[in-house]
Amino acid sequence: MNASVSKNDSLFERAQRTTPGGVNSPVRAFRSVGGTPRFIIRAEGPYFWDADDKRYIDYIGSWGPAIVGHAHPEVIRAVQEAATRGLSFGAPTEGEILMAEEICKLVPSVELVRLVSSGTEAAMSALRLARGATGRDKIVKFEGCYHGHGDSLLVKAGSGLLTFGNPTSAGVPEDFAKHTLVLEYNHTQQLEDAFKTMGDQIACVIVEPVAGNMNLLRSTPEFLQTMRRLCSEHGAILIFDEVMSGFRVALGGAQSLYGITPDLTVLGKVIGGGLPVAAFGGCADIMKHLAPLGAVYQAGTLSGNPVAVAAGMTTLKLIQAPGFYESLARTAKRLTEGLSAAAKDAGTAFCADSVGGMFGLYFAAEQPMDYAAMMKCDKNRFNAFFHAMLDAGVYLAPSAFEAGFVSAQHDDAIIDETVKIAASAFKQLT
Ligand code: PMP
Repeated sequence: MNASVSKNDSLFERAQRTTPGGVNSPVRAFRSVGGTPRFIIRAEGPYFWDADDKRYIDYIGSWGPAIVGHAHPEVIRAVQEAATRGLSFGAPTEGEILMAEEICKLVPSVELVRLVSSGTEAAMSALRLARGATGRDKIVKFEGCYHGHGDSLLVKAGSGLLTFGNPTSAGVPEDFAKHTLVLEYNHTQQLEDAFKTMGDQIACVIVEPVAGNMNLLRSTPEFLQTMRRLCSEHGAILIFDEVMSGFRVALGGAQSLYGITPDLTVLGKVIGGGLPVAAFGGCADIMKHLAPLGAVYQAGTLSGNPVAVAAGMTTLKLIQAPGFYESLARTAKRLTEGLSAAAKDAGTAFCADSVGGMFGLYFAAEQPMDYAAMMKCDKNRFNAFFHAMLDAGVYLAPSAFEAGFVSAQHDDAIIDETVKIAASAFKQLT
């Protein structure tokens, strides 16, 4: 065992004495891939270093936020400057106006926006708002999409297609789950059936328009167009959860790629640039139901925190550099094409896909287009590949069912180095 593993091992052992499972968010524990999580001590550009100073090319980018690369000097400067003026006031600041103006400019479907501190909070609040604005309780979500851990959203499909769901977590009352209908992603007919049967009871449909929590799964245009039409016809609210896809697949998010206008949008990750900022916003008529204007309550001590907003605003400016997204998409494509070619050489059943700056790796002969196909990907092979890459200094998401991310600091040389490492990793797979 080398020194780097032993230091991570001892930190993990220590962490478990005071923190459940040794981590503050479950996927970090490496449960799915096995082995010891790496404890990170610093990060810069496309890299981070673990407790024993081993360097990794990082393909999770804090699960999305690090789009301009870690510790970008302009972001760090903005944070330092904001911090010298005080950390939190519990009263409004001009920075929050600037941030709201920027979001409304970049995502035109957002006319009014409320800042919060996590994607979970944003999605949960958007749901409450949809219910409050429509006076309806039922919601529709899709198997494999993640919208944070609000009670109504930790629900999987029930026993029949149009039966309401079952909790995916202990502690979620059946009484909450019974209002959540869980359908299959990219299965348009199920949406038609659901609205035909209970359209007048559905408050909202919430969807990741490009799914990133069951690996990367593209939606078909027909799927999104159908939900847009059905929501409009039945007075339900369409919520795009763009916590991951927002400012990631394109500057205007997945809604700009697909040309579809949701009623509400949930944002997070990139808009905080690595500090806790998330948001939900949309059509003014709906947003006006929020307190203090309306009857739907929502609040937060640290909402619009000035230091976090400084990091977010600086990041939102940096991503508007000319050619930023073209270059990011090219980087992700170079990676997926390189990996696919290396896998082919090694005779491994594998495909890869990317949308903008996010990508998916599939240990399957054909690219999965729905949840059921995704679940058939070879998890054991992914785990072996993950560890071979990790040993060689490439940090992929520690789960076969998470998307990966590149940053603007992943240049061609870094991608080519990754592909070279992968070529040998694929050959090690049996
Ligand atoms: N929605 C989506 C689409 C997400 O990917 C995530 C987090 N991965 C969330 C919501 C929850 O965000 P947070 O972890 O900031 O609570």
